[in-house]
Amino acid sequence: MGNIYERLGVRTIVNAVGPATRLSGSILPEAVAEAMREASQFCVNLEELQAWAGGVIAEITGAEAGYVTSGAAAGQMLGVAACVTGLDPGKMNRLPDTEGMANEVIIPRSHRNFYDHAIRAVGVRLVEVGISDRFTGAGVRDTEAWEIADAITDRTAAVAYVANVRALPPLREVVAVAHARGVPVVVDAAGQLPPASNLTRFVSEGADLVCFSGGKAVRGPQSSGILCGRRDLIAAVALQHLDQDVFFELWDPPRSLIDKEKLPGAPQHGIGRPCKVGKEEIVGLITALRLFVAEGDEARKAGWETTTAALANALGDLPHAQVRVVVNPGRPVPMVWLEVDEQAAGITGVDLVRQLIAGDPSIHVNTSNVYEGSLGFGPMCLKEGDVEVISGRLHELLEG
Ligand SMILES: *Cc1c(COP(=O)(O)O)cnc(C)c1O
Repeated sequence: MGNIYERLGVRTIVNAVGPATRLSGSILPEAVAEAMREASQFCVNLEELQAWAGGVIAEITGAEAGYVTSGAAAGQMLGVAACVTGLDPGKMNRLPDTEGMANEVIIPRSHRNFYDHAIRAVGVRLVEVGISDRFTGAGVRDTEAWEIADAITDRTAAVAYVANVRALPPLREVVAVAHARGVPVVVDAAGQLPPASNLTRFVSEGADLVCFSGGKAVRGPQSSGILCGRRDLIAAVALQHLDQDVFFELWDPPRSLIDKEKLPGAPQHGIGRPCKVGKEEIVGLITALRLFVAEGDEARKAGWETTTAALANALGDLPHAQVRVVVNPGRPVPMVWLEVDEQAAGITGVDLVRQLIAGDPSIHVNTSNVYEGSLGFGPMCLKEGDVEVISGRLHELLEG
């Protein structure tokens, strides 16, 4: 009867983009899917499951504590909420009304992106710092750490930092100026895996909280993420995320996650309640994370290289096009770039992409350089047979 999507009447696609959310994320290893299936057949105390998962995350990241979120964006929101409230249940109950609280989050201007909706949702105001004129070619500099120091006031709840190979100022410098004023640094490292060494890197550079996507290269459930960092902040995250429909007297949270002794009472459902995480996601994410670490960067890269080499080879004889395999430093995912001579081919890169998407099966490619006539193909979500499908379709389109 075909696969489940055929039975449902929904098309599957050939995904040469990679684990993008709009294209449904990664393809789970069988072991992850099986772990989720098995996890789904029992009930557990979710606090206990989160405490266990947090322990595994702490061990792998070197952080004091960890937590499973519904994605990196949820991790940003929960992390910033924790920085605003600390362990004060009254403040937790009032969010996103932050009146009377330190409610500003400093962010280098060049780090702004629309995932920061997640930060603003907490009820804080973003304070942009610096001018990144190196991006316009009008200058050479980006935001500098002293400018962040200059912007810190008693209204500052946190500094937000979006990690990237090119991100400036260096995280260590940001941490130094923020910590000098007692301000925590929250790092969005959503897509910074691999290398696996980044699991420990930002924590070791002093970040107070770091979030990663579980549904990208880790190959966990699409709606999962990793948050790791300071124990008190993770406790504040848990308190604002877990379902709190419980009497204080009857509530016995695991101490490694929440120290009940430190609380005057329990907060009600918090700001994180709409981004809840199921037992299946928690078990699936931890299973995927362990597999990601065990596989190692070299084996992972070798697997991807096999796919990109096969694709580059299959596209090598296309007319009016050049094929290059590229690996960007710091982001070890090989990519195949097809540079189309638009004039000679009689078709623009944009139209070629349109045709690929419109075809059957629909083929999605990386379009970040499409206006220069370049189409990108990433190996992360390609399945067996996809190389032949992509190559066949491109031969049709460029030879036709
Ligand atoms: C993907 C991404 C996110 C969102 O991650 P999710 O796990 O999908 O919530 C946030 N920030 C950056 C920089 C990303 O690349």
